[in-house]
Amino acid sequence: MAAYKIIFPSNINYSCLCCGACCQKWEIPVGEEEAARFRETDWHSSFVSAAMPEPDLVRDGVYEPREEIKVELKKINYLNYHSSLKYNFKMRSDKQCIFLKKDNLCHMHAEKGFDYKAFTCKTFPVKLLYLPDNVVQVNYSFFCPGVYCDGKPEYDTAHIEKLIECDNDRTIAEPRLEFAEGTEIEYRDMLEINHFISDFLFDKDNASHLNDAGYTRDDELWNKYGSTLDFDKRMAVALYVVLFLSRLASKLRSEDPANYLEKFRGEISNKGVMKKLIEKCSDIYDASAAKNIGPLILMAFISLHQVGSREYSNFTKAFTILSNMFKCSTGWGSFCAPAHGFNFRMKMHSLIKFDSKNPELLAPVEKYISHCIFRKRSFYSSGLLKEYQYITLFYSLIKWYAKSYAVQRKDSAVSAEDVKKAVALIEKGYANHSLLLNILETNKNFAGIFGPIFGNYSLIKTVIG
Ligand code: SF4
Ligand code: SF4
Repeated sequence: MAAYKIIFPSNINYSCLCCGACCQKWEIPVGEEEAARFRETDWHSSFVSAAMPEPDLVRDGVYEPREEIKVELKKINYLNYHSSLKYNFKMRSDKQCIFLKKDNLCHMHAEKGFDYKAFTCKTFPVKLLYLPDNVVQVNYSFFCPGVYCDGKPEYDTAHIEKLIECDNDRTIAEPRLEFAEGTEIEYRDMLEINHFISDFLFDKDNASHLNDAGYTRDDELWNKYGSTLDFDKRMAVALYVVLFLSRLASKLRSEDPANYLEKFRGEISNKGVMKKLIEKCSDIYDASAAKNIGPLILMAFISLHQVGSREYSNFTKAFTILSNMFKCSTGWGSFCAPAHGFNFRMKMHSLIKFDSKNPELLAPVEKYISHCIFRKRSFYSSGLLKEYQYITLFYSLIKWYAKSYAVQRKDSAVSAEDVKKAVALIEKGYANHSLLLNILETNKNFAGIFGPIFGNYSLIKTVIG
């Protein structure tokens, strides 16, 4: 195996709580080779002798074909998985993996050991991102409550090397990446932009995962800009900055297609220009504008459809949920989704406070958004600008869901625990193969939904000039 330089995240601790959450209520994919391996064992006898629940389910095998998911509006293939992952482990009637024991440990692991298991089971909650020059960046799924553990992280290099060895999908990040509207930048340009954004977006304790990769944070950006703006505004400014830069890249390309990348690189490495850009973007943010809120609530509904579709299994039912939520948003009716424990009036929701200045609430948000910026490789392929748009959406959804959890607790203020649960919900949505993102893209709704946020579009164009 090639020697990899492994980078562990400096801002995430992880320790398994044996909660079993990762082994239920979502699809656990199984590859062709794994399926062949699992066929060699008489699992029915093994289940019977271990008194596992519902042993009859495994009489004719432990996995089933992965269903092709259809959305009525347009058939889409949203599976990001490696093409060989054609099966899922069967689920019991309580939607737990058939191998999950009462003590939340794995029967397959107990019988056959760690190495025998499916790749997904071996890796979760670890996420590996393959970077150029044989660098592997390690991250953790925020769906797992163990990533929030306090205390010193125990990072095990040998374990990660083992995971890399059995990973079929060691795709190195593309040397060129889409930025926006067909404009390409190189991977290092993207990192430069991401680092620049992170320097003013995140409190340094929650800062970028790549600090360990030799990047030096520019504290001036944080002291002068980040620490003076509340997080809502920092997020908006981050999005505007990326939008400006995408326009700049397009403009330079149209003027000089052969050399635009060099020129663009010159601009983004000029700290004076970039600081001015933050100031401009800060000026155009209008916190009072209702246009910043409406579309994001709509996005929350779409996301609920996506999470809800797991439970409600067909689009028509999910659409009913959406329309119910819409009724709530317009001030009448109540919303009820028992599978998620949601049952509240929209009015109640709007009375709950999400204090975006509270560092306790912000810490999980910042960690997650940093994780999205630096980890979600699948975003890169659809463009860096889009990635930041999604991240803005995710932030709104986190706030929305966190408030929903507070409503459930009948509390008027959101707690850090509510935020962590909200992050987990978003992460689960992501892990369910980005259906939300694909629906938006497939239906070309993205611009329509986000358009109103860019009410200042003409001003942006003027500044880019
Ligand atoms: S969700 Fe995380 S903490 Fe819970 S069992 Fe899975 S890995 Fe462990
Ligand atoms: S096979 Fe084991 S580790 Fe994998 S999902 Fe099922 S219970 Fe969890």
